[in-house]
Amino acid sequence: MNNRSVPRTLAAASAALLALGGVAACSDEKAGGDPQRVDVVAAFYPLQFLAERIGGDAVTVSNLVKPGAEPHDVELNPSQVGDVAGAELVVYLKGFQPQVDEAVEQNAADRAFDVATVAPLLDAAAGGHDHEHEGEEPGHAEESGAAEEPGHEEETGGKDPHLWLDPTRLATVGDQLAERLGKADPDRAADYTARAASLRTELEKLDADLAAGLKTCQRREIVVSHTAFGYLAERYQLEQIGITGLSPDNEPSPQRLAEVIEEAKEHKATTIFFETLVSPKVAETIADQVGARTAVLDPLEGLSTDDGGDYLSVMRTNLATLRTALSCS
Ligand SMILES: [Zn+2]
Ligand SMILES: [Zn+2]
Repeated sequence: MNNRSVPRTLAAASAALLALGGVAACSDEKAGGDPQRVDVVAAFYPLQFLAERIGGDAVTVSNLVKPGAEPHDVELNPSQVGDVAGAELVVYLKGFQPQVDEAVEQNAADRAFDVATVAPLLDAAAGGHDHEHEGEEPGHAEESGAAEEPGHEEETGGKDPHLWLDPTRLATVGDQLAERLGKADPDRAADYTARAASLRTELEKLDADLAAGLKTCQRREIVVSHTAFGYLAERYQLEQIGITGLSPDNEPSPQRLAEVIEEAKEHKATTIFFETLVSPKVAETIADQVGARTAVLDPLEGLSTDDGGDYLSVMRTNLATLRTALSCS
């Protein structure tokens, strides 16, 4: 990522805000905002989903990441920084999108909900795959820590940000989001609480279905393009083998590719997973080498443009995909 572009973007946004301030100075309402609704800015898709479901028609939700774009390294344009500055509530995940963190810190620190504060994040290596407990294969243990890739520490402080892939965590984030919305809009606080409770019921049903559907499988290792699935793996006792690290744009080294091919062969992987928002090329290369097929396992960092689903339906598609790939009964 080009850090030098950040100050320029923010400076330009500040200029745009000054101009906006001139127009809107006579009114407390934000330019373009609906005074009847709470203006919520969501940093990426799962947070947009939560805000829309819990806010209902009492909120206007915008997403800082365009449909079909990958959110990790989102670059905000001046008007998006203006949206952050003008929002009544910004929902984001500190440590996931550096430019969003910076825009929040400079423009909306007092109106931001950092969902990473809801529950302690898992360590970056959680849900990873290693051979510490197998023992029958001396020498293989050297490959332990498969999910750890250079770059983790700088990006996330060693924590995994992908918390939405555990539906029960997302439900807890939703409960707290309802509280935040209720503070911003006390007249409708009870509505927000009720919608969060109803969403929690759906998320807990999804959780139960994932647990039951992944309970008895012939394999538990999943070879994935980036290590987005730590929370899913931890919750449902899977083990992820990531081709790249926590961020999808890291190129795997030839050595890492070779390791993943060995792992995939050893664990008789039938499927190498790729994502809708990043190129499937590396996954295809590995699949060719091990005689596996490829399939989409969606980390739900955003919806693909041609997809009509939502968080719940994409997670159910993921469950079906996993059940096939892992031969679950
Ligand atoms: Zn990710
Ligand atoms: Zn292994």
